[in-house]
Amino acid sequence: MAGRAHEVRVLDVVEETADAVTLVLDIPHEVADRFTYACGQFLTVRVPSTTSGSVARCYSLCSSPDRDGPPAITIKRTPAGFASNWLCDNVVAGDALTVLEPAGTFGPRSLDRDVLLCAAGSGVTPILSITKSVLAAGSANVAVLYANRDRESVIFAAEFDELVRAYPGRLTVRHWLETERGLPTEAGVAELVGQWAFDDVYLCGPAGFMTVVQSALKDLGVSDKRVHREEYRSLVDNPFETAQVTQPTRSSSSSGHPLLEVEIDGRRLTLEWPKDRTLLDVLLAHGIDAPYVCRESACGTCVCSVRKGRTRMLLNESLIDDEIEMGLTLACQSLPETEEVYIAFDQ
Ligand SMILES: Cc1cc2nc3c(=O)[nH]c(=O)nc-3n(C[C@H](O)[C@H](O)[C@H](O)COP(=O)(O)OP(=O)(O)OC[C@H]3O[C@@H](n4cnc5c(N)ncnc54)[C@H](O)[C@@H]3O)c2cc1C
Repeated sequence: MAGRAHEVRVLDVVEETADAVTLVLDIPHEVADRFTYACGQFLTVRVPSTTSGSVARCYSLCSSPDRDGPPAITIKRTPAGFASNWLCDNVVAGDALTVLEPAGTFGPRSLDRDVLLCAAGSGVTPILSITKSVLAAGSANVAVLYANRDRESVIFAAEFDELVRAYPGRLTVRHWLETERGLPTEAGVAELVGQWAFDDVYLCGPAGFMTVVQSALKDLGVSDKRVHREEYRSLVDNPFETAQVTQPTRSSSSSGHPLLEVEIDGRRLTLEWPKDRTLLDVLLAHGIDAPYVCRESACGTCVCSVRKGRTRMLLNESLIDDEIEMGLTLACQSLPETEEVYIAFDQ
């Protein structure tokens, strides 16, 4: 099992809509500090499976670390989906779930920059968390565009209404209902969004929705650099199963491999980093408990800083240009580009 997995109790199960439930979690006192989280982050839940032992699925925290009590995740049934239906059908208060520590980079670094938040369906969970944090702990304004099939399927409708009442000058929420307006269109989204002023954009929902919103933003002249995306997908890898053990590279100075100096969990280590192996693979092969979830560049869990030297990513679906310019990289995709690289897991 991944070293960063913990058993937590379900305190409460809240039926949000006919096909979505919120699980409120009771984090054991001993590991409370490992569950400190930022708005927009997610947990990874282990769901038992008779065929494969388990599957792992990510669920964003809908709670805000800046004002809410226990952390909570919201799960919406995916038609014919394995884990979402299992969780909605089986979990009751008092059950234990195995989850990985909070992870992800989908959230503002400053709560004082005005944000446009766009969500469709269950994509609203990190959007609600960000909304609550910015309003409670920051000074920025928040505009939310929230698309759903119909009124009954709107998760957190009442909570958004309450927030609008509590922060009338700072929060604007516009619902887009398919039953009233059809699927979101580029022109319709541009017309709505064009009325708002914002610094950064956070998008979460199905691929089709995100494409429409991104095209609308492009039409409005919003730079891609300001647009953060969280794509919901099921994990292929299962971080709960023991990481595949590969042979560590021997520490011989004559091997010709680049040298990696890495700072992680308060330790500093020097290893060899073969040019064709990702940073994460090298760390796991040495038994180092590096954080990771998807290994596909999408979740941002393995984000780290390049302090010295250069690396390149094979694929990047979670960091924006500004973050790469700051020196951030994804361990699961990084290869060395210089003979010496210094990496710190400090995010
Ligand atoms: C960072 C992140 C955060 C997320 N946050 C949330 C959240 O807050 N709330 C939420 O509800 N979801 C969230 N998700 C999505 C969630 O992790 C799952 O992907 C979702 O619940 C579906 O999982 P499932 O096991 O039910 O569906 P799966 O069984 O994985 O199926 C997904 C789809 O694929 C189809 N499918 C499955 N197997 C096959 C096959 N063999 N061949 C063809 N088609 C197949 C299914 O019919 C279904 O339509 C998040 C995902 C990520 C990456």
